[in-house]
Amino acid sequence: MKLHEYQGKDLFRAAGLPVPKGEVATTPDEVAAIAQRLGKVVIKAQVHVGGRGKAGGVKVASTPEEARVLAGRILGMDIKGLTVHKVLVEPALNIATEYYAGIVNDRTSKRFVLMLSSMGGVDIEDVAHSNPEAIIRVAIDPAFGLQDFAIRQAMKDAQFDRTKSRELGAVIKGLYGALVRYDCLLAEVNPLVVSAEGDVVVADAKVDIDDNALFRHKDLLPYREESFDNEMDRQATEQGLTYVHLGGDIGVIGNGAGLVMNTLDVVTASGGKPANFLDIGGGAQAALVVKAVNMVLSDPEVKGIIFNIFGGITRCDEVARGMLQAAQEMDIRVPVVVRLAGTQEAAGRALLEGSQYAPVASVQEAARTIQELIGR
Ligand code: GDP
Ligand code: MN
Repeated sequence: MKLHEYQGKDLFRAAGLPVPKGEVATTPDEVAAIAQRLGKVVIKAQVHVGGRGKAGGVKVASTPEEARVLAGRILGMDIKGLTVHKVLVEPALNIATEYYAGIVNDRTSKRFVLMLSSMGGVDIEDVAHSNPEAIIRVAIDPAFGLQDFAIRQAMKDAQFDRTKSRELGAVIKGLYGALVRYDCLLAEVNPLVVSAEGDVVVADAKVDIDDNALFRHKDLLPYREESFDNEMDRQATEQGLTYVHLGGDIGVIGNGAGLVMNTLDVVTASGGKPANFLDIGGGAQAALVVKAVNMVLSDPEVKGIIFNIFGGITRCDEVARGMLQAAQEMDIRVPVVVRLAGTQEAAGRALLEGSQYAPVASVQEAARTIQELIGR
């Protein structure tokens, strides 16, 4: 679950990190009223993407009137396909130095890795490419946690300001504390600012919470509602489906993430464009299959659908029953090809005989056939 900056900052504040006192607003009038109280402010778009600064979603306003005008531009703005509905308004900073501090789940080392850089700010992704040695990486042994000496060494290697090492070190330690406490996959501060006045300030927050751990963070449930970037994401989560919109016109439904990704590759290799990734998971019941078909069909771009089912704990006959039920409950106007293999394959195929679903023997044939049926 991705958090907005203001939500991440709430968690960091609770963990004792130096977070500016900010307020969230949804209208220019509210922003002007906040600016009236705070003075010179920074207005920041709250959307789940990086690079808001470069996209014009972060602006400094000197007066309430200027704040109202700038808020009017930012609210409703489109940043990388996402509409801005909320802004965070904070007292503006006099930035002297911008550091990067992040802790990420590194699947290669199977550890959380602390990353520090003195080249923080809006271009950290470029730094990672052009100047990777400017980012110090330290793998964290979960048995020992992030030790103070490791923090000190990493800050030295990253050439952090030594006169601020106590405050900066406390932020890094607190960041790890928050990461563990909230089961984060990512906890990042960019920029971690040292102001002209010498204050260390957490100026941005990027947090991603492990969905599989949400059951033990009931206090984070209020954030759930704002974690969806569109209606499809919300529906999928509520129905227990893993759905990712991809923008093409061939709907893809399968059981198991690897199988679905493989299907996407084969569709792409045969010249098609997948509309989505949709994993119904293992052991799917008919009712879930109905929801999956409904989900894919709610995308108006979809011109055809591929079902790729490999029966393990999933039973092909159960999936077939779901498909027949879907055909009864809704008007499926697009061609659907079906590859069924594995547990109860014969029973599944028998059920689909005479239905509108076209059986195919392999995923390659599925990709070819759906293109033909669409008329390409
Ligand atoms: P991002 O671009 O989505 O990562 O958003 P950030 O919150 O990191 O903001 C981008 C840039 O805006 C930062 O690197 C700063 O240079 C600048 N910025 C952010 N907050 C402030 C602030 O309070 N005051 C000033 N003057 N600049 C800020
Ligand atoms: Mn940032």
